[in-house]
Amino acid sequence: MNALPPQQPATRTACPYCGVGCGVLAVADLNGGAMIAGDPDHPANFGRLCSKGSALGDTLSLDRRLLHPMIRRAPGVLGRVDWDTALDAVASGLRTVVDRDGPEAVAFYLSGQLLTEDYYVANKLMKGFLGSSNVDTNSRLCMASSVAGHRRAFGADIVPGTYRDIDEADLIVLVGSNAAWCHPVLYQRMIAAKRNRGAKLIVIDPRRTATAKDADLFLPIAPGMDAALFCGLLVHLADTLALDYAYIDRHTAGFVEALARAREIAANPAATARATGLEQADVAHFFELFRKTERVVTCFSQGVNQSAQGTDKVNAIINAHLATRRIGRPGMGPFSLTGQPNAMGGREVGGLSNQLAAHMGFSPEERDRVGRFWRAPCLAAKEGLKAIDLFEAIERGSIKALWVMATNPVVSLPRAGAVRHALGKLDLFIVSENVLDNDTIAAGAEARTQVLLPGAAWGEKHGTVTNSERRISRQRAFLPLPGEARPDWWIVTEVARRLGFGSAFAFGGPADIFREHAALSAFENNGERDFDIGALAGISDAAYGALDPVMWPARAGEPSREQRFFAAGEFFTPDRRARFVAPERPRPRSATSKYFPLRLNTGRVRDQWHTMTRTGMSPRLGTHSPEPFVEINPADGEAALLADGGFARITTSHGSAILKVRFDAGQRLGSIFAPIHWSEATAAYARVGEMVTAANDPFSGQPELKATPARAEPVEFAYVGIALSRGAITLPAGTWFARQAITGGNAVLFATNEPFGLWHEHARTLLPADAELAEYIDQSRGLIRIAAFRAGRFDGCIFVGPAQSQPQWGVVRSLFEAGILAEQERRTLLSGRSADGMADTGPVICACFGVGLAAIQEVVAAGRNVTVDDIGRTLRAGTNCGSCLPELRGIIERSASPVVP
Ligand code: SF4
Repeated sequence: MNALPPQQPATRTACPYCGVGCGVLAVADLNGGAMIAGDPDHPANFGRLCSKGSALGDTLSLDRRLLHPMIRRAPGVLGRVDWDTALDAVASGLRTVVDRDGPEAVAFYLSGQLLTEDYYVANKLMKGFLGSSNVDTNSRLCMASSVAGHRRAFGADIVPGTYRDIDEADLIVLVGSNAAWCHPVLYQRMIAAKRNRGAKLIVIDPRRTATAKDADLFLPIAPGMDAALFCGLLVHLADTLALDYAYIDRHTAGFVEALARAREIAANPAATARATGLEQADVAHFFELFRKTERVVTCFSQGVNQSAQGTDKVNAIINAHLATRRIGRPGMGPFSLTGQPNAMGGREVGGLSNQLAAHMGFSPEERDRVGRFWRAPCLAAKEGLKAIDLFEAIERGSIKALWVMATNPVVSLPRAGAVRHALGKLDLFIVSENVLDNDTIAAGAEARTQVLLPGAAWGEKHGTVTNSERRISRQRAFLPLPGEARPDWWIVTEVARRLGFGSAFAFGGPADIFREHAALSAFENNGERDFDIGALAGISDAAYGALDPVMWPARAGEPSREQRFFAAGEFFTPDRRARFVAPERPRPRSATSKYFPLRLNTGRVRDQWHTMTRTGMSPRLGTHSPEPFVEINPADGEAALLADGGFARITTSHGSAILKVRFDAGQRLGSIFAPIHWSEATAAYARVGEMVTAANDPFSGQPELKATPARAEPVEFAYVGIALSRGAITLPAGTWFARQAITGGNAVLFATNEPFGLWHEHARTLLPADAELAEYIDQSRGLIRIAAFRAGRFDGCIFVGPAQSQPQWGVVRSLFEAGILAEQERRTLLSGRSADGMADTGPVICACFGVGLAAIQEVVAAGRNVTVDDIGRTLRAGTNCGSCLPELRGIIERSASPVVP
């Protein structure tokens, strides 16, 4: 792992997944792939990568790539066209809608995966030249509440601290953040602070996550009650005389009102405990740790943001830091952990519908300034529609043309079924994508005209991204553009040219765009706006090509340095004072009932990203959580008559899904958790977004993705099975399945109620007709094992067994990948009995080295006082990215061995 061939020059680039923004070294191989390592010189990761970053080389296949522009005009099918035809269709379609229905009838839906340069030109085209602000982004689902909270408190969307503060903190508070899985490399810096400096870690989360397992104090808070906890903290700090009144008086406003509201919500530790569902002793312990520790960083993420009261939660956290001046100083501050690789870059260019550009809004002065800078003929007059409202406008028919870039809203948005239906109403549906098929592309089949534009993927394009600590890094290409794929900035500028705006979009490459973006940030700024990278406005092409990671602000004429904000005030409000915000009393937007007695919390798993269009291509990333699942407290599970390892139908008022059941005592009673990753392209009946409510935060427009009332009911399947093939696999309609990435073919895990006899027939039709079939059938035990061989190569199989059976997926997969089998291996395959060295390893815990649960348990059982270091020495598990370390510790804890930290 992380070893590159010596003497081959590596390309320095950045990871395309989470907001940690790790530096990556890539060396292209001769097969269109690449060898990957962490960049030891990048200040976000110093050479480390998590499991997802380490597996980037597995995800570069062109198998399912969209390689040519395509158009479908109803009624009809998608057909390949040349670029001129596609771009003309986009431009003329947009022009028709704008002329006929006005600019508000057009919308762009962008992505935190886009590069800043792509974002900049899309935002400029829509807001400056088409005349609408209907540009929103999937970042609305990710960090909009942090943006709104920052702007309310600081007068600008700014993260005050840097990663160095996490290294230097004595107390790290994680709120609604499973950083061990979702920001793994930064999490390892937290663990290093704990190990090396004795920093304490507090985790506040309704679920006992992998992160919670490392915590010195875990607070299993009731869903949605974070603001109550931080109100209680503010009151406690006031009552114990721990506030910095000199700072409050000199640099802030609104403190008295905020404290009064906090007293109404949580007047003391006992009231706080009641409001939050926590033990009073734990609440008091947290309050005292915060009070006694000067260097406190509070990191927050989706558990805070993805809420109908997310902005209030953010401000309640910021209030506690402002009141104690734990902000802008080493080792202190509120810290929003951004979900996506370039959500920050999108914020910088103004790629949200309630921003104009470069951290400017829609005041007359700001409109005038941006309009003059862009020489915009048709500047948007007001804020546009935020994501949820935007798709509802499509549903109502008031938006007629939509351009989706690099995201999959039919899977990720709340009420995803309604979103899918809405897309069919569009006159013009443009999708810039890497993949040939996903749920969003499929949903556009009903639109009057659909245009698919093949965008460049990671490794094929140049530009910049900004991570959670305001650090701008270069993404660089190290692979040629495949087929007719083009960078998104090029596609947008070609459309702009065809719309008659060529002179304003005469960019020769991303460096031109970056220079203009930097110049706008500094235009008539004079230090009044936080976002200023004017020092880079004159950067040469060569310097842009070689640009090292740089943190903003980077003002012209000022020395380059890492800057913290607000230790001495100087906020970006008109009076330069921060604002305390009095939050509303926290209450869930939608109540549970006897029909929907549980709360559905949605989130991510360790080794997958978003809708799996990229990570789903990596066999090793698929081994940790191969099937869509729901976690439920065993007591709730038994009450709902579920079985651990069985299946459940989860239903809300918006939709339902069928998911594998995992009993987990770390789930709060009354809460269930399901990951968001699976789509119709990758599984059956597993689109979790379809079930989620669309209740929005009133300030940020961010939807509540973590508290939808739901119920769980058992689903019985008579048989489970696996199917592998060198070609495509199509199972009978009604079969529950989850696709698996596998080297050299395709694979699915499935479950079915079709009768035994029918499966025998299906198996024969699903396997290659020209293959030699080897069969093992045991009707009395409900077993079918049919394997297909061509020229001695194991080319496919269908194995079906009773619902309680274990199909030995790991063993079958490795035999399939091996191809030619020895006689003993053939016998193992068909009999299902493990031969020496072929025992199924169980779920893979360490994705980097493919180490399964069974092997780890064996090491733990064989020794005394076994530590994670012992496991690492024996199996290498946990010695690369560290993402599995919390799970290794959990396995040790659950074993008979005494725990050794
Ligand atoms: Fe990529 Fe992992 Fe780093 Fe996030 S922590 S940027 S996913 S390598």
